[in-house]
Amino acid sequence: MHFFCSVSALETSITQIPGLLPRKAALLLKECNIATIGDLLQWYPFRYIDRTRIFTVREIVEELPYVQLIGRIEKVEIKGKERTQRMTAIFRDQTGTIELVWFQGIKYAREKIKPGIDFLLFGKPTVFNGSYNIAHPELEVFSPEKLTTASTLQPVYSSSEAMKRNWLDTRGMANLIRQALNMVSSQIKETVPDEIIQQMQLVPLNIAYHWIHAPGNAQELMYAERRLKFEELFFLQLKLLLQYKINKTSIKGFPFEKIGEVFNGFYKNHLPFELTNAQKRVVKEIRADVAKPIQMNRLVQGDVGSGKTIVAFLSMLMAIDNGFQACLMAPTEILAQQHFVSLQPLAEAIGVKISILTGSSKKKARDILHADLVSGELQILVGTHALLEDKVVFKNLGFVVIDEQHRFGVAQRAKLWAKNVLPPHVLIMSATPIPRTLAMTAYGDLDISIIDELPPGRKPIFTKHHYEKDRPRVLEFVKSQIDIGRQVYIVYPLIEESEQLDYKNLMDGYEHLVAWFPAPKYHVSVVHGKLKPSDKEFEMQRFVKHQTQIMVATTVIEVGVNVPNASVMVIESAERFGLSQLHQLRGRVGRGADQSYCLLLTSFKLSKEARRRIETMEETTDGFRIAEVDLELRGPGDLQGTQQSGVLDLKLSDIVKDNKLLIESRHLAERVLQDDPLLEQPYNIRLKLRLQELEKKMMNWGRIS
Ligand code: ADP
Ligand code: MG
Repeated sequence: MHFFCSVSALETSITQIPGLLPRKAALLLKECNIATIGDLLQWYPFRYIDRTRIFTVREIVEELPYVQLIGRIEKVEIKGKERTQRMTAIFRDQTGTIELVWFQGIKYAREKIKPGIDFLLFGKPTVFNGSYNIAHPELEVFSPEKLTTASTLQPVYSSSEAMKRNWLDTRGMANLIRQALNMVSSQIKETVPDEIIQQMQLVPLNIAYHWIHAPGNAQELMYAERRLKFEELFFLQLKLLLQYKINKTSIKGFPFEKIGEVFNGFYKNHLPFELTNAQKRVVKEIRADVAKPIQMNRLVQGDVGSGKTIVAFLSMLMAIDNGFQACLMAPTEILAQQHFVSLQPLAEAIGVKISILTGSSKKKARDILHADLVSGELQILVGTHALLEDKVVFKNLGFVVIDEQHRFGVAQRAKLWAKNVLPPHVLIMSATPIPRTLAMTAYGDLDISIIDELPPGRKPIFTKHHYEKDRPRVLEFVKSQIDIGRQVYIVYPLIEESEQLDYKNLMDGYEHLVAWFPAPKYHVSVVHGKLKPSDKEFEMQRFVKHQTQIMVATTVIEVGVNVPNASVMVIESAERFGLSQLHQLRGRVGRGADQSYCLLLTSFKLSKEARRRIETMEETTDGFRIAEVDLELRGPGDLQGTQQSGVLDLKLSDIVKDNKLLIESRHLAERVLQDDPLLEQPYNIRLKLRLQELEKKMMNWGRIS
């Protein structure tokens, strides 16, 4: 492959910035992944300091990041000598005094300071020996005009400790960025056609970069943000739409031409219940896809308990009817087990051979399984990521189900696709309903099916918040439910920072419970992350078989277990859980015909957000509504599956707050592709070039990570 265009200004390595030491360049790469000038310019300030605000010495408190003061400087002293030398001075305004210190640049600072005139000081107060001081303040001779003309918004950049030690703190970064901008500014090329710039009323790209890093005023900042956010959102949408189109036209797949005996036989004679209308609709959507000679990429969204499993199973039967094999991949061993256990009887009823493969499968079982896969005797394989391994070879894989919404990276996808001469059809099942906006952004390249109906006969789960002081009442209620034959989950939060603490919490809770629910009348299972998989499985099974009435667990049970007889979910320290997690947990009950309960225990002091989460849980059981609130409270960055996949590489935009711009960008991208589907027109050349650049970047990324 050869490159015939010169490297664009933004792709220039930062090592080309005059005076940037190689050591610092390496540090920037290591700490912030900044390799090029473009990366550096996209190291956006995370906030701005309003330099129109003048503080007084008396107002200084510890939390203040930076302050601006007006006053005079007295008592300049130089202390220590040579290497340990420092200079101190006293800064005084009408309200009091604060100490200033310099460890470096003493001579320069000494010359600048003059007694008897007012200085405008800018710096960060810190506490030292019980009183405040400011190290290395910025000083200017004060004049009232200056205050009104000076740049009013000062950027603040995030920087790690190592960066700070190497003078790459906020000020260092600002200087470096200024230098880089001056170097390349005139060469920054527009990325979108002039027509779009006019239509969207965007400022030129190079101006936007200047203004975001050094805004003259709030308005300039606003224009700069809008331009750069548009840049992110528009190209993201363009990329997704193009990818979608490519998936739809050029990625060949195996057409499943017929619906045969296996599917029909199962559907007529072995379906354990009548499908809901939503399930029927989704099965039809899948059927229409797999009949075409194009690879299917479809996401099925359905709330917990909406019955996605049977839909996946019916889809797999379509593959089998056409001589193909199918597999189902789950994110955890427990979940894979659960799927296997629920699918096995269905498969056996129609003589379809099914097996399971996970990290803990034994060598001997593996060997048999590998042989049966290659010969084609094994038709459905359930498992974990172990399925991706190269040594797992299918005779003719045609259909893949991926449970839960974790998305694959390029490398994993390639592995999956390489399992047959044409890529298998892919069905992704997600139990976390995704708000429309996010689906549009993160899953814009997939088709989406929604199961928006629960199987009949489900009573809404009654949800109630209690403070911990009410625990005795809650446990009395638990007892009354157990005494009429029900089972109960009691869940403790996983404390990520401290596995020890986590375990202690759970075990304390367990002791307490055993005292409330003594043997031999009551039996309690306990499951946590420290157990060996086999012990975990054993404990789970005891609960599934109703040998125990209570299951005490950390969030390991979040996805998985299906025990229809369980009717109460008690969540301890519920304020520690995210909304979608609470909703997932609640979904563990309400699976049978009985009225079910979800009881949320919290401490007395709740943050505003925690209160909102708990209230939302009490108000609704609609997963989509919950997902909307969750997104609003947490922002998209935290949403499961989007962060690590890098689908949302948004540095500036927030798909909740910038929703309007997102939708505008989407429509615009749709229109552009409608007129010129492959971006071949001369007036779209900038778009095409920019996309190529982005793609190249993605590939480089692939190589690094
Ligand atoms: P999820 O969408 O959370 O994966 P499952 O597929 O595990 O849901 O289904 C939840 C429960 O509902 C299972 O016990 C399943 O057998 C049952 N179920 C699914 N569809 C129906 C239906 N149409 N009618 C009655 N029960 C159903
Ligand atoms: Mg499921």
